[in-house]
Amino acid sequence: MDAPFDAVVIGGGLLGCATAWMIAREGGRVLLVERDQINQHASGRNAGSLHFQLEYRMIDRGIEAARQAAEAMPLHLEAARLWAALPQLCGEPVEVRQTGGLMIAEDAGQVALLEQKTEIERSWGLDNQLIDRAEIDRIAPYLSDRVIAAAHCPLEGKADARTAAPALARAALRLGAEIRTGCAITGLSRQGGVWQVQLQGDTARTVSASAVVIAAGVWTTQLGQMMGAHLPTIPLALTMTVTMRIPKLVPHLVQHAGGKLSLKQALDGNILIGGGWPARLPLLPDGQPDLDTRPELLASSLAGNAAMAIRVLPELGKVPTLRSWVGTTTITPDQLPLVGPVPGYPGAFVATGGSAFTLGPCFAQVLADLIAGRQASMDLTKFDAARYGRG
Ligand SMILES: Cc1cc2nc3c(=O)[nH]c(=O)nc-3n(C[C@H](O)[C@H](O)[C@H](O)COP(=O)(O)OP(=O)(O)OC[C@H]3O[C@@H](n4cnc5c(N)ncnc54)[C@H](O)[C@@H]3O)c2cc1C
Repeated sequence: MDAPFDAVVIGGGLLGCATAWMIAREGGRVLLVERDQINQHASGRNAGSLHFQLEYRMIDRGIEAARQAAEAMPLHLEAARLWAALPQLCGEPVEVRQTGGLMIAEDAGQVALLEQKTEIERSWGLDNQLIDRAEIDRIAPYLSDRVIAAAHCPLEGKADARTAAPALARAALRLGAEIRTGCAITGLSRQGGVWQVQLQGDTARTVSASAVVIAAGVWTTQLGQMMGAHLPTIPLALTMTVTMRIPKLVPHLVQHAGGKLSLKQALDGNILIGGGWPARLPLLPDGQPDLDTRPELLASSLAGNAAMAIRVLPELGKVPTLRSWVGTTTITPDQLPLVGPVPGYPGAFVATGGSAFTLGPCFAQVLADLIAGRQASMDLTKFDAARYGRG
């Protein structure tokens, strides 16, 4: 058996790579294990939006749901700070642009929702202001006249999902982290106060570690089951589309207060369009979602997403799309983040849920703090797995 690691991090998406890097930064001996390749799943397929105001899925069930979702605002604020610092901290050219986000409204009901929402967000310390059409004409003239107001959050923006996790993995390697790809974790057990982690890859073996971190995205529930813990998650298959390059037009992250839409322009000119339109998750014979088979694109989602995008950004009607793709993300049953210790399993930690790309650096910092024996910088009790009981 190998000498113990301080931590084994399971999953080579943005969260796992950021966590391994943060542990290594403090001199921790860390092994990152990814059963496929780094950044192959949700972290490499997402829209790269840095959402710090509450997203549409958090407000579409009414203002009380928004109030509950806003309890995660300290995580949002910390994530905004960390994204801004990330390129310098990790010494890699991570593409991050925090040039502001607009959540747009097309009717009076949506404006009223934005008014209530921004009030809640501001009470948590987020800079988010309702702006009228005159101000939209000034800062976002590219938006259709149908847009009558918007919530403007200057901290929002985008990061390049294709390069962020690999950059953090390289930074972790430089600090001495070990990374095994093409290597699945197949067993997790605790013996004598140490975690025994079974690896299956080219050479099956077991390593021991003081801590294990489940950073496994849609496979979080499965990894929890391996150790006997109840970590409920819900997989959502989603659609993304990217257009051909066009000259600089959209500096903001644009979202909609009344439907599924997010769009932004990448630095190289392509417009990325998403916002939560579903793809079809294949099912296993027992009716459970098949997380290991790529979801299917739905024509209705492509058409619905494109129609909405063109309605608010008419210029897009002239721009050919380049490609569309799918990915599967995780939400939790109450839509709040799941982050912190796994109750009843000393030395085990987990993070997932919702916009884990946006929140990834903050989740990673929280986990690295806990593993180092420090108290997390914010109260996490609302977000740990204890709220789901034992299943
Ligand atoms: C289409 C789409 C658009 C999205 N847009 C946004 C957005 O704009 N902004 C935002 O904040 N979020 C967005 N999300 C959500 C975001 O992508 C995810 O929340 C985030 O990437 C999750 O990162 P992760 O590292 O936790 O998981 P993942 O990136 O899924 O990584 C988990 C890794 O764990 C590995 N793994 C699983 N089981 C094992 C095992 N047994 N052994 C070893 N390795 C294992 C997997 O192979 C995988 O690589 C979007 C998601 C999708 C699908």
